[in-house]
Amino acid sequence: MGRLFGTDGVRGVWGESLTPELLLRLSRAIGAYFGPGSRVLVGRDTRRGGDLAVGVVSAGLMYEGVKVYYAGITPTPSLQLYVRDHGFDGGVMVTASHNPPEYNGVKVVGPDGVEISREDEERIEELYFKGEFGGPEVRGLLSSPVRVEGVNDYYVEKVAERVDSEKIAKVKPRVVIDCGNGATSFTSPYIARKLGAKPLTLNCNPDPQFPSRHPEPTPESLRDSAAVVRAIGAHLGVGHDADGDRAIVIDSRGEVHWGDRSGSLLARFAYENKLVNAPGRVYTGVSSSMLVEEYLKPAGIEVVWTPVGAVTISRRMMNEPGVAGFEENGGYIHPAHQYVRDGGMTMALMLYMLVTEGLDSSRLFSKLPKYYAVKTKVPVSTRSEVQCFVEEAKSMFSGERLILIDGVKAVGEDYWVLVRPSGTEPVVRIMVEARSPERARELAESVAKSLSERCKKQ
Ligand code: MG
Repeated sequence: MGRLFGTDGVRGVWGESLTPELLLRLSRAIGAYFGPGSRVLVGRDTRRGGDLAVGVVSAGLMYEGVKVYYAGITPTPSLQLYVRDHGFDGGVMVTASHNPPEYNGVKVVGPDGVEISREDEERIEELYFKGEFGGPEVRGLLSSPVRVEGVNDYYVEKVAERVDSEKIAKVKPRVVIDCGNGATSFTSPYIARKLGAKPLTLNCNPDPQFPSRHPEPTPESLRDSAAVVRAIGAHLGVGHDADGDRAIVIDSRGEVHWGDRSGSLLARFAYENKLVNAPGRVYTGVSSSMLVEEYLKPAGIEVVWTPVGAVTISRRMMNEPGVAGFEENGGYIHPAHQYVRDGGMTMALMLYMLVTEGLDSSRLFSKLPKYYAVKTKVPVSTRSEVQCFVEEAKSMFSGERLILIDGVKAVGEDYWVLVRPSGTEPVVRIMVEARSPERARELAESVAKSLSERCKKQ
């Protein structure tokens, strides 16, 4: 049986690999999974085709007897919070998260507000491929979704309640918010304002073309925002992806930090200030830097390495609580709020940490062990090529500490390398960190070159 779901939902190029026909059948399978009479909240980000896709998704769900409610344009964590707090049986978010503009897709959320488990995804795939949908008795009863107002307002309020806004309002930190023309345009500026910070917004006009930057927040795509942070002397900058579950942080000097760096700072802050009622344990994906261990272990925090993918982290944390879960891509889970990545919550926590620890964000980040990261990717066309990359990486680093939870992570004396097949694109990702930028670049280039030579010559 084929797979539809990747690391986080179903995604494809809208109109090509993700057609309305496929989406309709998928939505019927999702509808059959939730069952007739269930209440499902649908939302979307700002992507091209989003309105049409919502129409198709709603039609598929309703045809299977599901009662559809529509939240409008809203970040994924906002939809998730609303599903959990208002007793919905689930949610469907029309989004392709951080993918390029031509993509769209769906994420399916359970009644607890968390993306459904791998087993439930497989159940939906089974229904999809077998065409096992409900009988005629469920059909034709419902024909229009119910519009739900105030989903974004509810989210803004709940996020702001989680931190001490009086403390932030006293200091009024200046924060540059880059919404990347995505769904956070409707929330993050208002969260900052509600907290008493002074937001300066960039790209916070929703636009399906994403004309200003790539929807994925990275040091490259946030270069202009980093320049603005520096130019106006802001205390902090934050850049989101299109559906707002990620927040990448820019410090006061305009340096852009990956999420494992901001995540380490926040997790220790949350632990030491008892923001979360949980043991000193942190979950992070194998794609995170070894600095996570170096910074958190001395504070008495255990680091649990997990396969890449926030769903795995969320579901594990719900069974074995921890103070935080995060990924290097900017996804951060604050379990006192909800068990999912939440870009708006991350921004609020950063602001709270900043005013608590003395306002100098570049000094905060300088506490972390210094590694220089280089990420690259190699396109792959066949499964055997992917397998070859993994096997060859294992033998290439056979003398080092290997973490084989997801791909191959080799930890050397003063560097580490991760070779991992992507769950969302036909590429193998190669990540390297070392003590100098030159060494990191050299290593990344030589690993990519030598693996390509060994595996792509056929
Ligand atoms: Mg996202």
